[in-house]
Amino acid sequence: MNLLPDFRYHRPATLEEAVQLKAGSAAARFVAGGTDLLVNLRRGLGEPSDLIDLTAVAGLADIRREGDSLWLGAGVTLAELARHPEVLALSPALAEAALSVAGPTHRAAATLGGNLCQDTRCIFYNQSEWWRAANGYCLKHNGDKCHVVPKSDRCYATYHGDVAPVLMVLDGDAVVAGPDSVRRAKMTAFYCEDGGAHVNLAANEALAAVVLPPQGGRRAAYAKARIRDAIDFPLAGVAVALRRERNVIAELRVAITGTNSAPLDVSTGDLIGRVWDSDAATLLAKNLRKRANVLLTTVVGAIYRRRAMQGLARRLVDTLWEGG
Ligand SMILES: Cc1cc2nc3c(=O)[nH]c(=O)nc-3n(C[C@H](O)[C@H](O)[C@H](O)COP(=O)(O)OP(=O)(O)OC[C@H]3O[C@@H](n4cnc5c(N)ncnc54)[C@H](O)[C@@H]3O)c2cc1C
Repeated sequence: MNLLPDFRYHRPATLEEAVQLKAGSAAARFVAGGTDLLVNLRRGLGEPSDLIDLTAVAGLADIRREGDSLWLGAGVTLAELARHPEVLALSPALAEAALSVAGPTHRAAATLGGNLCQDTRCIFYNQSEWWRAANGYCLKHNGDKCHVVPKSDRCYATYHGDVAPVLMVLDGDAVVAGPDSVRRAKMTAFYCEDGGAHVNLAANEALAAVVLPPQGGRRAAYAKARIRDAIDFPLAGVAVALRRERNVIAELRVAITGTNSAPLDVSTGDLIGRVWDSDAATLLAKNLRKRANVLLTTVVGAIYRRRAMQGLARRLVDTLWEGG
């Protein structure tokens, strides 16, 4: 591990001040729990001029009702998210996903905003400086070639966050604060498939919160495949939300992580109005294969991760379907 680079440190008390500070320098970065960013900086991945610590921003760690909806501040820690009664009442799947991130000491500091905005990962990127130098660096940092897809002009590093797919299937909105305004975007539109720039935030914007609507009859679940159950990123993760009406699928939402450069929703239109049976499961598996683009970005092979994704999805829908 390298020493941290030199930077100016700020601890603003408001989000307005935080975004103004960010707008003031192209090389400034936000830091929340630091469990993703600081590890990368210690590896020499980035040299921010300024670190803008969000942990003193008033109201950023609020969880509160907004009419029928639930407001989850970007500064809420994952530990708090996993145990909050309003979260458990709205969707235990969200608490489950938060609890599956890293280990307990990480979750005590790690925030929702940091989880959603965490960097993409790759075996050619999350390495020491000397390892990356020996390989001529890569497109994501300092180099001009993607070693995963050598002829590509974009980076194929993978997004491995656990919480985003659940927020997608629960139909969450991201609340984004800029210097002069606040905008909302669907969680499904908060990302783009580029390992080098996967979050749809302008340089002077911060994620303020995620707002979840009431879930009606929708029930959700999340599962991930990982090497070590105690602490590990998803090799593939799947979130599912299902509304069953009598013997048909009235609504089915599926989102995946750990497979592409962004968490992605999967098309399920051809399953609506059907009974959940082995033909429907085959259709869902086909839709998943079409959407996922699993490449050799982790030490575990792409074929295994693709199969794990399909198996997890089927198991989750089986369980939610049986639950009624
Ligand atoms: C050993 C280990 C295991 C891990 N396992 C997992 C895992 O299983 N699943 C998983 O999802 N993650 C995992 N992580 C990654 C990380 O711990 C989590 O994603 C964590 O939630 C990041 O939150 P943070 O507050 O610490 O983010 P930070 O490190 O503070 O920030 C991460 C990024 O988000 C940006 N950011 C933070 N807040 C905001 C905001 N409000 N608006 C805009 N940008 C913002 C920062 O600028 C930075 O680029 C692991 C990390 C380690 C070290």
